[in-house]
Amino acid sequence: MKDTPDTSLNGLVRPEVDSLPRYNAGLALDRFREVYGIDAVAKLDSNENPAGPCAGAIAAMRAAAEGVGRYPDATSTALRQAIAVATGTEADRIIMGNGSEDLIGAIFRAVLRPGDRVVTICPSFGLHEFGALACGASMAKVPFPADWAFPVDRLLAEMAQPVRVLIFSSPSNPAGPVIDEAGLCRLLAGTPAGTLVVFDEAYLEYVAQGAGFDALAVLADAVQPWIVLRTFSKAYGLAGARVGYGIASDTGLVAALLKVRNPFAVNGVAVAGALAALADRDHLARGAALAASERARISAALRARGHATAPTETNFVFFDTGGDAVAFAEALRRRGVLIKPWLEDPFRGWARVTLGTPAENDAFLAALPDR
Ligand SMILES: *Cc1c(COP(=O)(O)O)cnc(C)c1O
Repeated sequence: MKDTPDTSLNGLVRPEVDSLPRYNAGLALDRFREVYGIDAVAKLDSNENPAGPCAGAIAAMRAAAEGVGRYPDATSTALRQAIAVATGTEADRIIMGNGSEDLIGAIFRAVLRPGDRVVTICPSFGLHEFGALACGASMAKVPFPADWAFPVDRLLAEMAQPVRVLIFSSPSNPAGPVIDEAGLCRLLAGTPAGTLVVFDEAYLEYVAQGAGFDALAVLADAVQPWIVLRTFSKAYGLAGARVGYGIASDTGLVAALLKVRNPFAVNGVAVAGALAALADRDHLARGAALAASERARISAALRARGHATAPTETNFVFFDTGGDAVAFAEALRRRGVLIKPWLEDPFRGWARVTLGTPAENDAFLAALPDR
């Protein structure tokens, strides 16, 4: 694998793909052991739930393994029906993906023409950008201001030129803040009727009571086509199973996305795990409560050491390392602690630490270099 464009293929690879950076993925535990020669003490680089999935999900996946000789239901009907009940929507407006990242790619493939503009926030989730660039689109990235208020006015300013897709996460990954209801209403009111609005709620389950609102209810009145993305990878603890979903404004959008998504994107074992996970509200509540207390504690500890932090409604904290974030993260890795340095201007001094168990978070604090 190469980081730099490869000329030996004589122009085989499309230039928009060739020039893409590699995705800044977290390091899997077995790879970490191989590369660093030590066991990880705290894996805090991929926003996973430290408790993993509920016991029922593991049991369901074990049982479902018996059936892997057969192809799964291509559209995961039973799981879509359960999600429809849980979210108060209709199953035919729901599309499942091999993780919600699968759907992000499908959305771009379905709607983007070369030269189209995509608007997002910055710091941004890498996949909100890579798939769009690969389709030949250009990105307009609107930075958060210093106070980390959601940059609604600056997003609206981008609507002066044609925009095919408006895409962002709320709570935002990697920063952590949520857009408020008034902000989303104002944003929708100023967005062209033909722009697809992609509202990524990967961290919805972590938002404190009172800090969030029902985005599906707000979007129900939108004139634009829209899709809300959610995932079983974060609060449900099923990152390795790869299950995410979208709730779309209309069935036509689901039909279009199904044409560009792999036909059997979500396997039967993953579906069984997600169905069981959906039924265990206690497991979800415990994880959210832990993240809420730990984000306050770790944010305060970072600030006490002189690191600026972004406000967060998630299971991670975005903070200013005060220097070169890559070197900072590398120093922590040598101590068995994995965090994610941010590789995007103007946030190259910042890093994101996932909230693990209290013991893992203490290991992170203990590994911090002296300032
Ligand atoms: C983690 C994450 C996702 C998707 O994760 P999947 O594992 O592909 O479901 C999507 N959006 C954001 C903002 C995320 O942080």
